[in-house]
Amino acid sequence: MSKNQIVIFDTTLRDGEQSPGCSMNLEEKLRMAQQLAHLKVDVIEAGFPIASPGDFDAVQAIAKEVKGPVICGLARANKKDIERCAHAIEPAKKKRIHTFISSSDIHLKYQLKKSREEVLEHAKAAVKQAKKWTDDVEFSAMDATRSDWDYLRQMFQVAIDHGATTLNIPDTVGYTIPSEFYELVSYLNAQLKGLKGVNLSVHCHNDLGLAVANSLAAIEAGATQVECTVNGIGERAGNCSLEEIVMALHVRQDQLNRQTKIKKDQIYPASKLLSSITGISVQPNKAIVGENAFAHESGIHQDGVLKNKLTYEIMTPATVGISKNKIVMGKHSGRHAFREKLKELGYPLTGDDFQTVFEEFILLADVKKEVYDEDIIALVDTRIHEEQRFELEAIQVSSGNFAVPAATVSVLDNGELKKAAAFGDGPVDAAFQAIKEITGFNGVLKKFVVNAITGGTDAQGGVFVTIEDQGRVVRATGSHTDIVVASAQAFIAAINRIAFYNRSDDRPEKLI
Ligand SMILES: [Zn+2]
Repeated sequence: MSKNQIVIFDTTLRDGEQSPGCSMNLEEKLRMAQQLAHLKVDVIEAGFPIASPGDFDAVQAIAKEVKGPVICGLARANKKDIERCAHAIEPAKKKRIHTFISSSDIHLKYQLKKSREEVLEHAKAAVKQAKKWTDDVEFSAMDATRSDWDYLRQMFQVAIDHGATTLNIPDTVGYTIPSEFYELVSYLNAQLKGLKGVNLSVHCHNDLGLAVANSLAAIEAGATQVECTVNGIGERAGNCSLEEIVMALHVRQDQLNRQTKIKKDQIYPASKLLSSITGISVQPNKAIVGENAFAHESGIHQDGVLKNKLTYEIMTPATVGISKNKIVMGKHSGRHAFREKLKELGYPLTGDDFQTVFEEFILLADVKKEVYDEDIIALVDTRIHEEQRFELEAIQVSSGNFAVPAATVSVLDNGELKKAAAFGDGPVDAAFQAIKEITGFNGVLKKFVVNAITGGTDAQGGVFVTIEDQGRVVRATGSHTDIVVASAQAFIAAINRIAFYNRSDDRPEKLI
């Protein structure tokens, strides 16, 4: 690999997924992982296999099915974690074990309750252990930026000496600033022996809004790998955002002289896919992928852009894969074209899944004149879910300014038809009351948001709901040209997720 090449290590499915509201099930993780492969990230951190059977299965499925990137699993510095991780990533062609232990005195004293010497022994044993399973071993010193520099150097030296091929310097608590981080990475780069062939990596959190800036500073100081996530999701304020770091490196190549292998026109589809899976949209002014990122509202700017794009635009929307209102499909599009389109959007559906979505698409194409990418993503989202216990069969509502809103709903509960009718404050509320009665859902509706997914009065309505049940919060989406139907779909999808997540074990403490 050229020395100007930056390794993009994506942790959307690990650090990102462990953040509130971003839980994904196996099928969703797999779908996201396929899109990351299209994006051509170098490494996918697919999960933390010891955390739960669900995490293990997801990492294993990704290792089996996703081709291209290195598949990585996370493991604490102990034998059990490392073995579990090794088994999960086993099917992958290229596999990495990422093991970690804390290096800061505050973590040693209060979290690990071990001496510096003891922790060095654990680090050494962990790297040796991981090395038995794969050559590609990454070692992280958790809370590196608040650690004693000399101790940190010692710990990394132990890791190199025992075969670690990537050394990761996490700013676990999002505390560092660019000038300081530059110094730290430069120091390690200069002091560590045997760094040839070893990647120096950084993992920055965004608590002070500096994750991307810190990662860039680290690159200038010699870091060769960046850990990042799509849309910058992750613990607390999130991680370094993949789209921002990649585009900063691309647009300012003149200054930074580094490249990535990222297929930039897959950036926007990846961002949209993640938002549609988690139900969490990025803020409109989010760099690169936000709704306003390329919108020129000021007259002077608009005039300039019309005369020459470069007057106010440092990159074009098309570079990152934004194709506003591009007509993609109509009702005459055949199965083959539709299959190709799905693949392009990151949904390589097969068998019954494909058939169901294709039939839905034909129906939609009949109702709408033009079908956009966003419509197709919305369709797939509604249709494809893991073991759905409940499925909306039929819904009818009556409402208006003279009637008491009422709903009659039929739901299949594991195939068995159940019906209920209820009144409510409005048609959506009435529908939800009926669904609650059928499903026995006792939790709370925390949030309810309606968006037009595409423009016009024939637009599909996208509904996002957030519900909470016994402390567990999930989000789900539904979409339909009828807003009440979309709402019912979203609500039922959320209830299905609660049922799904309630089956998995609790996760251990949150990590790096
Ligand atoms: Zn992290």
